[in-house]
Amino acid sequence: MRIILLGPPGAGKGTQAVQIAQTASIPHISTGDILRANVKAGTELGTEAKRYMDAGELVPDDVIVGMVGDRLDEDDAAHGFLFDGFPRTVPQAESLEALLVDRGTPLDVVLRLAVPQEEVVERLTGRRTCSQCGRIFHMVFDPPTTEGRCDDCEGSLTQRDDDTEDVVLNRLDVYRAQTEPLENFYWERGLLRDVEAVGDVSDVQARIQAVLQEYGQS
Ligand code: AMP
Repeated sequence: MRIILLGPPGAGKGTQAVQIAQTASIPHISTGDILRANVKAGTELGTEAKRYMDAGELVPDDVIVGMVGDRLDEDDAAHGFLFDGFPRTVPQAESLEALLVDRGTPLDVVLRLAVPQEEVVERLTGRRTCSQCGRIFHMVFDPPTTEGRCDDCEGSLTQRDDDTEDVVLNRLDVYRAQTEPLENFYWERGLLRDVEAVGDVSDVQARIQAVLQEYGQS
C-alpha cells in the first residue's frame, strides 16, 4: 500500500505510523526523522535544515523533494510506503504526484488524523523521545516506568528542540497556512479519509485499521 498520514504536529502521526508500517509491511518514511538523523550526523543537508527546524519553519521544498526521491529509489519502497510528515506543501504534493506517475505507482489513501487544536500543544510539549531506539513517550498520557528512561532499551529520554511551546505555536501556524491546503488537494482526488485521533492510542489504531481494511489491508 502507498499511504500518506496527514495531520497537524501532535496528531500522533509518528506513533501511529510505526504500527501501520509494521502491520502493512511497508517502510515508514518520516521526513522529520530523516532530517533529524542528518542534523545528528552533521551532514551538509542537516546543517542547512537545522535553522528551519529550530524555528518551526519548513525546510525548502526542493531539498525535501530531492531527499524523498532518493528514499523512494531504495529497494524497500518498491512495494509501498507510509509517509509521515510529507508532503507538507502543495508544491511537495505535486512533485510527489509526478514522481509516482513516473513510477506507475499511484497513492492508495491519505489518512487525515483529526485532533482538536487545544490538545495539540499539550501533547507536543509533553512528548519525550528515546535517544537510543526512538520510542515516543508522553509525560502525562504515556509516561515511562522509570523517569527519564525508555521502557524498552533504558535509553535516556529527550525533548525535541522544536517541542518547546513557542516553537510549537509557530509550527501550528505553519501547518494551517501551508499544509492544510493539502486536505483539499487530496479530497479533490478522492483520496482523503478522516480518522478521529482522540482517545487512547489503541482506539485510534483500531479506527485506522478499519479504514485500511477497506483497501484490502488486513
Ligand atoms: P516532524 O518530525 O515531521 O514534525 O518535522 C520536524 C521539522 O522538520 C519540521 O518542523 C520542519 O522544519 C522539518 N520538516 C519535516 N518534514 C518536512 C517537509 N515535508 N517539508 C518541510 N519541512 C519538513
